Amino acid sequence: MMDREPPRTELASAHLAGTGLAGTRPAGTGPAGAEPARTELHRHPERGSHDLDVIFDIVDSALICHVGFDHDGAPVVIPTVHGRDGTTLYLHGSPASRMLRGLASGIDVCVGITLVDELVLAKSWFHHSLNYRSVVVFGRATVVGDPDVKTRALRLIVDHIRPGRSAEARPPNAKELAGTLVLAVPLTESSAKVRSGPPLDDAEDADFPVWSGVVKVSSPR
Ligand SMILES: Cc1cc2nc3c(=O)[nH]c(=O)nc-3n(C[C@H](O)[C@H](O)[C@H](O)COP(=O)(O)OP(=O)(O)OC[C@H]3O[C@@H](n4cnc5c(N)ncnc54)[C@H](O)[C@@H]3O)c2cc1C
Repeated sequence: MMDREPPRTELASAHLAGTGLAGTRPAGTGPAGAEPARTELHRHPERGSHDLDVIFDIVDSALICHVGFDHDGAPVVIPTVHGRDGTTLYLHGSPASRMLRGLASGIDVCVGITLVDELVLAKSWFHHSLNYRSVVVFGRATVVGDPDVKTRALRLIVDHIRPGRSAEARPPNAKELAGTLVLAVPLTESSAKVRSGPPLDDAEDADFPVWSGVVKVSSPR
């Protein structure tokens, strides 16, 4: 559905205050030249942010990401799990994976990370929406060759699935480590977008006999 609401910076700010991420600057208001053009938000830029703390919080809260890349001239988007260390996003998998092979060759990648917090149920079809937190990352992946960094990246991915799990489960042996490709994608060219708040029903729909409001979506953690 379309989401034609007016600017609502205050709602995004309220949400971010609730997540301990107050102080977020809206997209486009940072230091001059700090944001590359392809992470510039167009529609509802007041919901956007390039604040890395906001981006990190969303990356860490989302279990999975979707990795978009070009394969033989056609776009492909593959879901996968990730981990994060500072400004580095880690991806892993079989060296035979098309996604990992492609990314390891140094092609451009775009990663999307999305959390859906609430259903936004409006009086009209037109104003239905979702409350969400999302991140879009652009960059190029590099292969992590150093065994210590690779092991740390894999630990982060396991702990991303369940915090503390790496201390309980068996670490990879040499064969497993050699059979796993780990890629690093910088998070430095990225944007966040947050929608929060109620549906913006039209005044003429006030008496339409259907409930409107937001419904929480249960999160896996
Ligand atoms: C769960 C979910 C559901 C959505 N449903 C709809 C829908 O039904 N219809 C709709 O039009 N839009 C929807 N959106 C918003 C959508 O993601 C785009 O923000 C929107 O299409 C506006 O794009 P644009 O043309 O302004 O920006 P674009 O020109 O497409 O993007 C420019 C740049 O802005 C940044 N950007 C744009 N969107 C996001 C984002 N969501 N998160 C982080 N960075 C972003 C990126 O860096 C991107 O390269 C939804 C978003 C989420 C997370």
